[in-house]
Amino acid sequence: KDGLNTEYIGRNIDYHEAVDSTNQTAKEMAEREFAEGTVVVAEMQTAGKGRLGRKWNSPFGTGIWMSLIVRPPIAPPDAPKITLLTAVAVAEGIVHETGMKPGIKWPNDVLVNGKKVCGILTEMKADMDRIHYVVVGMGINVNDQNFPEEIRETATSLQIETGSRMNRARIAASILNDWEKNYQNFLSQGFAPVKDGWKNYAVNLGKEVSVTTFKETISGRAMDIDEDGMLLVKDATGKIHRIVAGDVSLRK
Ligand code: ADP
Repeated sequence: KDGLNTEYIGRNIDYHEAVDSTNQTAKEMAEREFAEGTVVVAEMQTAGKGRLGRKWNSPFGTGIWMSLIVRPPIAPPDAPKITLLTAVAVAEGIVHETGMKPGIKWPNDVLVNGKKVCGILTEMKADMDRIHYVVVGMGINVNDQNFPEEIRETATSLQIETGSRMNRARIAASILNDWEKNYQNFLSQGFAPVKDGWKNYAVNLGKEVSVTTFKETISGRAMDIDEDGMLLVKDATGKIHRIVAGDVSLRK
């Protein structure tokens, strides 16, 4: 809890040496009962998950593998905004702790020098009009020095980029501080402050992208994000597509 100065985020920490996935543990915990802002953290994940069931590499002791549990008083369709908010908090935490300027690849990858240093997986339980809970998983590569073959070209860690070993607890605290601040601003002022923060780090805007949704692949120029956090992509015919920050992949 080095440097944690939040009101409730991260005040209750559920620490593990190893879990299947911190999101899975957090969901089980949320099904029973939890204090708002509870954080599940593990030294390693044996089955760490990315979006769409993809695997998240999470070896022992190198990164920050954590999931936080909240019950936001928002409508279920607004939940993807929490993913964007989280990417901003991670980016800010990295700025505060390392001085490096990270980028955010829409919707949720945080990059340093063009390589992925953090992934975010937001999951929720909700019915039509009410969210029961949201679990926000973050995987941040901190002191990793090498990666498995499949991601060697695309992944990096804070240690690789800064050249020095980093204190994981401090970085986690810094991210949670920024997370709570952004979350409270979001709840009181809506998405506008999140959008501004997000655009500050965006790396895709103005560039050609190709987005695969569950039904189609759209290629065009990423123009902006709108007031709902949707990505606006203009295709070759000039048509603007609004893409929700859910289960989509974006390829450059
Ligand atoms: P996307 O980049 O499409 O948003 P996800 O957020 O679902 O993907 O993350 C999963 C993907 O990230 C994996 O398929 C793999 O390519 C990559 N990956 C897995 N573990 C790591 C890691 N520790 N650091 C960086 N990239 C990783």
